Amino acid sequence: KKIIITIDGYSSCGKSTLARQLAAQLNYLYIDSGAMYRAITLYFIQHRVEWNDHVQVKTALDSIHLEFVHNQISGYSDMFLNDENVEQLIREMLVAEKVSEVAAIRAVREFAVAQQQKMGAQKGIVMDGRDIGTVVFPHAELKIFMTADPAIRVERRFKELYAKNPNITLHEVKENLELRDYIDANREVSPLRRAEDAIILDNSQLNMQEQLDLVMQWVEDAIMA
Ligand code: C5P
Repeated sequence: KKIIITIDGYSSCGKSTLARQLAAQLNYLYIDSGAMYRAITLYFIQHRVEWNDHVQVKTALDSIHLEFVHNQISGYSDMFLNDENVEQLIREMLVAEKVSEVAAIRAVREFAVAQQQKMGAQKGIVMDGRDIGTVVFPHAELKIFMTADPAIRVERRFKELYAKNPNITLHEVKENLELRDYIDANREVSPLRRAEDAIILDNSQLNMQEQLDLVMQWVEDAIMA
């Protein structure tokens, strides 16, 4: 039996790393829902969409086509926006600074959630994000809510970004994470919440293997249930 696994939590808790490993181990599909909000944000920036204007948002969404395409080299999926590979671009600070604002727009969430739910029609999926266990797949068989020490999260994200851009500062990364977490948890439409039936996974003190072992046990339990 194949199930739906949701992983939600604040920024940089290690959700995507765990989700990828889990999907590889189970031979499931991994979907990074955040990449979709990032790609929409990139489009809005590139096309100077005024996102307080409903009409402009609607028109822009009508011309956005998102697709995950398997990358033979990395073994992961790359985000494609209107047939262009934007996997690198969407990870940049320029996008990170605006994504939570864009993700708070109702029409944007409806657009993304509808596509995410379609992907889940076929079971055997691990999806990470902020509202996957609460809104996208409220009936998922296994829901995980990840947390980690804020200082550890900042350091992790800093290392990731610094490797690509040595001009970045720890302060900048910290501010961005705090701002995104604040907006994500306080927005009107599907704010970041732990689903009542989600299991909390605090990975501050766990290495990858320890996390995987723990979660694989939960997966077995969920499959048996
Ligand atoms: O997961 P990631 O940090 O790449 O997500 C980027 C942003 O997209 C988040 O800070 C959040 O504002 C938004 N997001 C969301 N709902 C999701 C996934 C991401 O609002 N399911």
